[in-house]
Formats: sequence, structure tokens, C-alpha cells
Amino acid sequence: MAINKPRGTEDLIGVDALTWQYMKDVADSLFVTYGFAPIEVPTFEQTDVFVHGLGTSTDVVRKEMFTALSPDAFAKVSTGGASELKAAQHLSLRPEGTAGVVRASIEHGLVAQGGQPLKVWYAGPMFRAERPQKGRLRQFHQIGVECLGAEDPATDAEVIIMFMRFIEQLGIARDSVRLIINSMGDQACRPAYRDSVSAYMYEHFDELCDECRVRADTNPLRAFDCKNDRCREVMDAAPRISDALCDDCRAHYGQVKAYLDAQGIAYEEDPRLVRGLDYYTRTVFEVQVIDGLGAQNAIGGGGRYDRLVEVSGGRPTPGIGFACGFERLVLAMQACGAELPTPVCPDVFVSVAEPECASKAFSITQELRDNGFVVEADRQGRSLKGQFKLADKLGAAKVVIVGPDELAQGKVKLRDMGSHEEELVDCDALVDRLCELLGCDCGCDCEGEEGCCCGHGHGDGAGDGTKG
Ligand SMILES: [Zn+2]
Ligand SMILES: [Zn+2]
Repeated sequence: MAINKPRGTEDLIGVDALTWQYMKDVADSLFVTYGFAPIEVPTFEQTDVFVHGLGTSTDVVRKEMFTALSPDAFAKVSTGGASELKAAQHLSLRPEGTAGVVRASIEHGLVAQGGQPLKVWYAGPMFRAERPQKGRLRQFHQIGVECLGAEDPATDAEVIIMFMRFIEQLGIARDSVRLIINSMGDQACRPAYRDSVSAYMYEHFDELCDECRVRADTNPLRAFDCKNDRCREVMDAAPRISDALCDDCRAHYGQVKAYLDAQGIAYEEDPRLVRGLDYYTRTVFEVQVIDGLGAQNAIGGGGRYDRLVEVSGGRPTPGIGFACGFERLVLAMQACGAELPTPVCPDVFVSVAEPECASKAFSITQELRDNGFVVEADRQGRSLKGQFKLADKLGAAKVVIVGPDELAQGKVKLRDMGSHEEELVDCDALVDRLCELLGCDCGCDCEGEEGCCCGHGHGDGAGDGTKG
């Protein structure tokens, strides 16, 4: 019987896996310049962690979470004893990254009162048990950042700018995306606004879809996200948050925009942009691809969540973050012709002319790898001709030929795969010679000067850009 991957999941293979790795590398090197450090939290948590964070009225919590059960808990549930489960036994796979980071920050006291903000980023799989459909996976991958402990609008602007830089560094052209921002107000002004939207929705109750009728009561702001055309029309005329912000929220939002303006970051304001999750306050933002992704055009977004730490059981602590989806980012990269990473070609292929040379070839292979070269060799018993073919197919720049006659003089043959020229090299001098030919890989920035820290000669051929 063939075993297939679960519905709604994808294997990341080849270019996909390379691209995911590349994205994490870009994130790592960019985010550190803004003071963000990596964090790893579990992929499952007590269900309460998500319920507190996301709110029971959100679709995610109501119907889109995967439950995880230990064998004990599973036995109880399958014999009808679900009600006997303790809170600690109710586990769910994470539908998003923020709640787990907030839980960790509270558990480990990572945001000291009056101390530095906690700035972390993560990358990993998230899980939603919704119906699999095009562009929506049950296991998908996200890169996200969280900053806890800073209320200053400069933080909002920094996080947004960092996100835009990230997208640019992935090769997604700035003019192929639009940045949309809004302020959702806070505890002082949002409840009244929420009530006014709810009242408006009840006035238009007959025109709304079934889901929005429920939302009118439970989560009216979510109706702004409804994909139903009629609902969109109705909600277009709904009260705007921009008219309902209190003075503090208006000033905070104005500062965020001033910082973005000063940095030349173009944005559009959309008062209908409301993130579906209850914990967002004040600044929210989303980045959409203008062409090529259809209705699922958002590649990432985020916002401020000044209430989340408190409702999750910690001291009141402001927070802001964003998350972006790997799968959508790849589509966006493809849509605007960004270069996707390609497999690494070997620098050197070590070939064996006669079987008796195999063990010497093996040690040469190791020595070259220990010196930083990418090295391949045949492990399937090919003839010498077959080994050359393989080296060519793999795109190796040089082939080392280990043969008995040369070895008797302490030498190997070195063949250039482009020109097919061959030279004899002392075994002891092979690393230095390859450094000369392929460029130094010691990581210094000497650009091939003599006397480099790596101790290699750096002759004429050094620094030709094929290495390092
Ligand atoms: Zn609707
Ligand atoms: Zn306010």
C-alpha cells in the first residue's frame, strides 16, 4: 500500500527546501541588525495558550486548531472521558507563532519591568485544520518576529521597515507590493467602535452572509475580512475606525506614519484593515502583492498587541510583531522574477583511476572538505570515464585524478573541467593549489593577498569569485 503525505501538507524538496533555508538565512542576517535574536518554542502548547491569546470567537480557535493527545489522554477521550482531561492534557498544534512566544516570555520572565524589550524571531511550521484548498495548507511555514516591552511608535515603524527590507532582500521588488496600514485603536476607543460596527451590522442583518450574522455578535470587525461580495459592499459603508480613535491612539498612529514618511516608506491607509485576532491594538499592517497572486495576495502582516501578555496571564506589556508565510512569499518571488537559490555545485570531484587508489582518494576527499571545499566523489563504482561524466553533470569545477603512477611520485593529476587542461600537483600542495585556482575559503577578506591568515599561498588565480 502506498503511503502518501497527509492532506493539506507539502514536502519541501530540492529548490523548495533550499528556498526555505535561504529565507531563514536572509531573516537571520537582517533581523540581527535590528537587535532580534532567534527563539524556538514548541510546535504544540496547552490549548489554553492559544485560546487566551486568540480569543474563543476567532475562527482559528473555533474550528481550525489541530488537537494533540498523549496516549493517556487519547485513551480517555476514546472511552468518552474527555471531560476528565486536565487543562495540561488539552494540547493543540500551534496555529501561529505569537502565542507561544508570549507564553515563553511570561514563563521565563523575559521582559523585565523597565528592562530592555524582548526582540525575537522564529521560523517554523504552523498548523490549521481548515479544509485544504488551493493556497491554504494544513501545515504551512512562517517566519515571524515579536518585540515585547516597547510602546514607542518608533518600534512600530522599525518593525514595519524591517519587514519591507526583508521582502526586498528576497528579491521581491518594492513596486510589486503595497504596504497597507491602519490603527485599530485601544482599550479606550475600540470597544465603543466595535459596538458601533455591531449596531450597523444589525441594521443590515438581512444583507449579510450567515457567517457575518454570527460575527455581528461575536467579532464584528472580522466582517471587514469577509470575501462575500455583498458583505464587502455593506461593510464598505460601515463606521470607520479612523473616525473613532481616541487622542492617544491618533497621536501614536500619527507618529508611526511620520517615521515611515521620513524613511520614504510608501504606504496606503485602509481603515478596513482589521486583523481578525482579538488581541491586536493600534498599528496593524499588511503587505500585499499587487499582481499575480489573485485573491490570496497578502504575503504577510502584523501589528501591535498591547493586551496579549496581560490576557495571557503576564504583567501588562506592550508588544508588536509580524509573520509572513513561506509559501506565499515563494509565489511572490516567482511572480516578480526573483532569483530562487540553486543547488551548490562541487568545487572539486575526486576520481579514482584504479581501485587500489581508493583509500588515498578517500583521505584526499576528506582533507579537501576539512579545508572548506565542496567535494564529491563516486560511490557507485563507475569507470574513470563514468566518473568524469558524473563530475561534469554535477558541475564540478576541478577533478582530482588519483592514479597509481602519479601516487608513486607523491602526486595527483588536477584537471580543469572547462579547459580540460591537466597538471601534476604534489599531494602535499593540493590544498594550496586549489586555493590559488578557486579562491581562498578561509573567510578572511584579504582578496588574495600574500600572507593571508589561512596560510595558503594566494597565487595569481586567487579570488576569482568561484569560492567563498
Ligand atoms: Zn460575510
Ligand atoms: Zn484609543
